[in-house]
Amino acid sequence: MKKKFWRCFVCNDLHYGLKPPEICPTCKVKAAYVEIPEREAKAILTVPAPEPGFSKEEFRAAIEAFAGPNEFMVNPDAERVSLLLEGMDANERNHGLRYCPCRLRSKDFEEDLKIVCPCNFLIHETYKGQEKGECWCGLFIKR
Ligand code: SF4
Repeated sequence: MKKKFWRCFVCNDLHYGLKPPEICPTCKVKAAYVEIPEREAKAILTVPAPEPGFSKEEFRAAIEAFAGPNEFMVNPDAERVSLLLEGMDANERNHGLRYCPCRLRSKDFEEDLKIVCPCNFLIHETYKGQEKGECWCGLFIKR
């Protein structure tokens, strides 16, 4: 089965998966998702363009919250993190999504969704099984 894009017709929340959530996690309406084509999802994901200089700080706060009390944390090397966030900020402005700054996009939209940050770094060889594991770029490290 192939994953598809779904859009909540009430609040425009997007879902990418085999089937839509029964209840929209954003507006809590039941049976609100409709299947949409990839080009519609792309348009929703890329418009409006973020304001330069704004998304970097917003994203920093989001990844701190994402790391939360997990087994991983945001790298305490502030300079490295700042460079990575600038790379993602540039990718978002130039290509519409926060693609990983240390990976090359294949230009296949579905394939490239795998490298939108944060990616599934728990399965990276650089992370799993390593005492001092980290994601490919070192944005997230094991505690
Ligand atoms: S490797 Fe790290 S920086 Fe790159 S997308 Fe994954 S989590 Fe983000």
